[in-house]
Amino acid sequence: MSTRTQQLKKMDQKYIWHPFTQMKEWGSPENPALMIERAEGNYLIDSDGKRYLDGVSSLWCNVHGHRVPEIDAAVKVQLGRVSHSTFLGLSHVPAVELSKRLIQIAPKGLTKVFYSDSGSAAVEVALKMAYQYWQLHGVKTKKTFLRLKNAYHGDTLGSVSVGGIDLFHEIFNPLLFKSFRADAPYAYRDHFKGSESAYAEYCAKKVEIILKKEHAKICALIVEPLMQGAAGMLDQPAGYLARLRALTKKYKVLLIVDEVATGFGRTGKMFACEHEKVSPDFLCVAKGITGGYLPLSATLTTESIYRAFLGKYEEFKAFFHGHTYSANPLACAAAIANLDLFKKRQTLKKLQPKIKILSAELGKIARLEHVGDMRQVGFMVGIELVKNKATKEPYSLAEKRGFKVSFLARKYGVLIRPLGNVIVLMPPLSIKKGELLMLCRIVQKCIEKITK
Ligand SMILES: *Cc1c(COP(=O)(O)O)cnc(C)c1O
Repeated sequence: MSTRTQQLKKMDQKYIWHPFTQMKEWGSPENPALMIERAEGNYLIDSDGKRYLDGVSSLWCNVHGHRVPEIDAAVKVQLGRVSHSTFLGLSHVPAVELSKRLIQIAPKGLTKVFYSDSGSAAVEVALKMAYQYWQLHGVKTKKTFLRLKNAYHGDTLGSVSVGGIDLFHEIFNPLLFKSFRADAPYAYRDHFKGSESAYAEYCAKKVEIILKKEHAKICALIVEPLMQGAAGMLDQPAGYLARLRALTKKYKVLLIVDEVATGFGRTGKMFACEHEKVSPDFLCVAKGITGGYLPLSATLTTESIYRAFLGKYEEFKAFFHGHTYSANPLACAAAIANLDLFKKRQTLKKLQPKIKILSAELGKIARLEHVGDMRQVGFMVGIELVKNKATKEPYSLAEKRGFKVSFLARKYGVLIRPLGNVIVLMPPLSIKKGELLMLCRIVQKCIEKITK
């Protein structure tokens, strides 16, 4: 390690508090700090020049790689015009262009775009809009939400209120608003015997039981489509999302689909909703929207929701919500360039054979002695490590097997970040075939070593 890197790490420890990090261990031999300085394509490069394959797309947001000439250029052009001006009472050029483009690619029926600056904020906006919608309609009893077990929708208190990951959220319970919780699919641990469609029916039924009884109190159901990400990449049976859409229509409850993780190609289609031909009432997007370049998010909604908020000024029906950096122009410019690249590089078409290669490689990893379950939706992967494959007995979280695999992978030039005992892979869509093979082989080797 160079003395400069040593100094940087010292200063990091002196001044910084990192997210989701036990700072007492940060920088210790068990949790070595890594100082990223540059990037190139699908690699991040540290301050000593060592290269690492970005195996989780810089926390699930990178799409076309790093330092993409077209996105770099788009941001530079925008820098030459204006970096930021407010969206409260003003508009700007890149936001107009981006909104049109988002509506063109979004599921049918979504016609309006509301911008904010993080996935959590996009979820807050959907929750508040759904709530206010029913209030404006004079339906005063609908005051809460239906959420799924193990859901993750962000870290602000509103989004935590509809989240369900006890490890992250339990301590904040007294601060949260109450909501109804339904069991979510988790085929590996559900002991359900039957076909995939029977399982989808079974899981949807659990949601219906609550909707049937409590729909008069529920504004909206919020879900991560196809796969619950932060829960440990828990995939849902085919047909489940479409059933939820039908149920929410039947019981007059709005549907919020949180595509913050799944959006922008991650599942093999532009949006996960497309797999099930679902149009939600709200679509929340963030992470991949700018190609992983800049903070931006959006809540897309329908004409009918939008119209409920129209009225004379003095009726005060407006949606009173906004952030200083809502729709930041640099971020919008990056997002437009990101969408252009999907077309220019035929990203989704070229992704399909890579998804197949990934499946084949994961098949090999699935056979390892301590790999209990292998879950994949497109380029989203969860590898659940267990102590005993036959009984599905989990490793104790205190053993930190997931982190140990991830730290070992760094030695071989791969960056990944686990969720408990689940190894997550979510490479940039731009990953090359050779890089994908390398990623899987190194992860396999590291799992073998750490679970020996
Ligand atoms: C990451 C994530 C969020 C939160 O997004 P932030 O930009 O980190 O606030 C919300 N929902 C889902 C499904 C996510 O994966």
